[in-house]
Amino acid sequence: MSFENLNLHPLILKAIVDSGYTEPTPIQEQAIPELLAGHDIMASAQTGTGKTAAFMLPALHRLATPAKVHSRGPRVLVLTPTRELALQVSEAAAKYGKHLPRVKVVSILGGMPYPLQNKLLSQPVDILVATPGRLIDHIQRGRIDFSRLEMMVLDEADRMLDMGFIDDVERIAAATPATRQTLLFSATLDSAIDKVAARLLKTPKRIQIAAQQARLDNIEQRLHYVDDLSHKNRLLDHLLRDMALKQAIVFTATKRDADTLADNLSAQGHEAAALHGDMSQRDRTRTLTKLRHGGLRVLVATDVAARGIDVAGITHVINFDLPKFAEDYVHRIGRTGRAGAAGIAVSFASGKDGVNLKKIERFTGQQIASHVVPGLEPRFKPRPGAGGASRGTPNVAHKRSRTWSNDTSGRNANSANGNRDNSRGRSFDSDNRGNSFRGNSNPSPYARTK
Ligand code: ADP
Ligand code: MG
Repeated sequence: MSFENLNLHPLILKAIVDSGYTEPTPIQEQAIPELLAGHDIMASAQTGTGKTAAFMLPALHRLATPAKVHSRGPRVLVLTPTRELALQVSEAAAKYGKHLPRVKVVSILGGMPYPLQNKLLSQPVDILVATPGRLIDHIQRGRIDFSRLEMMVLDEADRMLDMGFIDDVERIAAATPATRQTLLFSATLDSAIDKVAARLLKTPKRIQIAAQQARLDNIEQRLHYVDDLSHKNRLLDHLLRDMALKQAIVFTATKRDADTLADNLSAQGHEAAALHGDMSQRDRTRTLTKLRHGGLRVLVATDVAARGIDVAGITHVINFDLPKFAEDYVHRIGRTGRAGAAGIAVSFASGKDGVNLKKIERFTGQQIASHVVPGLEPRFKPRPGAGGASRGTPNVAHKRSRTWSNDTSGRNANSANGNRDNSRGRSFDSDNRGNSFRGNSNPSPYARTK
């Protein structure tokens, strides 16, 4: 399947060629024809599989023909949970729409000054990208004319639900014409999402791409057992000195920890900065721009701030603190391995993280192989008598480890299981590390999903 088969406007195709894309990803291949035919869709696919273009290309295709209703308001509305994601969507709109005449993209985000937004909204708008809270403010002040709105996109709807934005989303939808086409994208399509879809979409086509199992294929996951904070700091310093690490996102549990860690790393000579929700929008944007342009090697972030960040240079994700929710683990590590490149995700786990770690492994359906850095071995021994990590020699680093010393479930006794796990330890070096999109003969990593 090539992009030419999708019947997109030639000037959009031209921008796709400029972007270096050779073939549509599965979500694009399935969603675009349904969208061009005018259907509502609800779709899920793993992170980094090109969902933005899946909705933005058909949206731009609409804009290539003049509006039927005469007004200055937006013809396409995209709602996203975070400001960072909104900015990425706006950038994508500009990129894919650059050859079309006059596509005006406006982003309306919380934390930005109202006077500028009021000015932007008083001019003609084609694509409006917004976070729900701030958009509601403008709707209530009568600043937005939705009379010619044709398409509404809910990007990362599951996150908007988690963050409590769904009431706002429904109020916004109620302010738009009932004739609109509605698209919902989510990491998972569960019953909560179904309820939202039932209220906002009209007989939607359901598109589900990746099985959960196949989602993290191009990311090597590693586990380091840690004794305490000082052990974590020493391990992190060691990992960051690896030349193979081009850019990394380090996740901490709290905003304050993100600041402290970024300061400490800078003091140690690393090019590091923090990103979290307490920073002003200007600082967040400045930090992200720096990251994107390679002016920053280590970003220390919290979950919400880092969601949706799509920077191709990120080779490593490091969970300095494990996330509370297994789903966040998948979102975090999805910040590396973008667009089919290979990535490495390292997690630090201490004795009290055992339950959390199991939840994560159950959710991903994958065990995380434990690694040991010679000289920085943990005193804490998670698997006495079960082989693997507790031997502490470098060549067991790739072997999988599952059980914990404080796990009394009796799984330690299951040595057959232990052996099989060891034989399954993957050798990442034989993997294709290249970006298969760009002219390499290996099958696209997307093709591997079931
Ligand atoms: P998602 O929203 O599914 O997490 P994105 O839309 O952010 O993913 O896309 C991830 C990356 O893949 C982006 O860098 C984007 O430029 C790239 N991409 C999108 N579509 C294609 C394609 N057809 N071929 C190659 N790269 C693509
Ligand atoms: Mg996305």
